[in-house]
Amino acid sequence: MSVAHPKIAIIGAGIIGLSCAWELLKRGAEVSVFDKQWPPVGASWAAAGMLAPAFEAAGEGVAHPEFFDLCLRSARMWRGFAEEIEQASGQGVGYCEGPALAVALDEAEAEHLLRLEARLVESGLTAERLSRRDIGALERGVSPDFELALALVSDGRVDPRRTVLALRTAIERAGGVFEIVPEGVSGAQLTEGFNTCLDASGVGDGAGAVQAVEGVMLAFRRADMALDHVVRCGAEYAVPRGEHVLVGATVGEVADARAFLLSRAVRFLPRVRSAALVDQWRGFRPATPDRLPIMGRGSDARTFVARGHYRNGILLAPITAEIMAEVILGGELAGFAAAFAPARFGATA
Ligand SMILES: Cc1cc2nc3c(=O)[nH]c(=O)nc-3n(C[C@H](O)[C@H](O)[C@H](O)COP(=O)(O)OP(=O)(O)OC[C@H]3O[C@@H](n4cnc5c(N)ncnc54)[C@H](O)[C@@H]3O)c2cc1C
Repeated sequence: MSVAHPKIAIIGAGIIGLSCAWELLKRGAEVSVFDKQWPPVGASWAAAGMLAPAFEAAGEGVAHPEFFDLCLRSARMWRGFAEEIEQASGQGVGYCEGPALAVALDEAEAEHLLRLEARLVESGLTAERLSRRDIGALERGVSPDFELALALVSDGRVDPRRTVLALRTAIERAGGVFEIVPEGVSGAQLTEGFNTCLDASGVGDGAGAVQAVEGVMLAFRRADMALDHVVRCGAEYAVPRGEHVLVGATVGEVADARAFLLSRAVRFLPRVRSAALVDQWRGFRPATPDRLPIMGRGSDARTFVARGHYRNGILLAPITAEIMAEVILGGELAGFAAAFAPARFGATA
């Protein structure tokens, strides 16, 4: 069932809530976005901004057949999404196409890259193998001691902080409303007067199916690293952003996150040893038990949910916005998105 004149309250102004608001406004809905804070210093503010479907290709941790497809669909939407937000807001979002580089320094990492390469080729995508000379020409700072290196053409990047700032401007210019939730106001009070509510609260209050998984990020002076591409090695990565190179990220609580990340990064980017560390922060990924997002109809006819995007919420923002606008305004969840319906967690989602 869809509402004839939707008046929609969106709880949460991270990249998911804002992207859904933008898409709903474009389709003529009346939208208000609520958050406890601005800027929205949740997961979106902490993220590196990799748009990296290839890294979901080998299914490490997440083995859902539909998930890689979802990531690819969203990656393909990003260029148009970025252009549209930039045009509507007059602000840049730092979108860059790939390739990202992936290097394997030991046998286990090489096996993982070979699986990833096979899955990409199976899906009609390219993963170009790189020689030492190729890597040397592309990124002189990457260790030459690798077993295997790939250029992942599908994997780009964006600046998530600039994206959420630009999205808010675009939303307000399009007639959407943004409000800070007043202290002591309950969710029910907040959504009074709206006939539809979208829960995009990320980790939210930490109850129910979505749990917080901590991630720590380090930022180094880019001039010391001279890095132009995203470089990944095992579970770690380095991402150039403006004057900085971000090195991340831990997954879950780690006793000395800085020492841990440094020891991992120095393997593939030896220059990190002498680079100036200029910032460090942590964020909390919204994670479901199966590590897949929750998107669709909530517990009653006027409630919808878009949460649990775990480590890919930046990548998945455009496709999530499209899916949620369809289901809120059209009433049906697209076939390919049915695997991510909240119903799989019963009432707890
Ligand atoms: C260190 C790190 C690195 C990452 N790197 C990447 C990456 O490279 N690429 C990628 O695709 N993803 C990455 N991610 C994952 C990505 O950041 C998340 O999946 C994504 O940001 C989730 O967006 P969100 O809008 O759901 O949540 P959030 O950005 O957390 O937004 C939720 C918002 O809801 C608000 N809120 C909560 N409760 C309430 C309430 N009761 N009332 C009002 N407002 C409320 C919060 O204040 C917050 O602003 C990374 C995450 C981390 C932590």
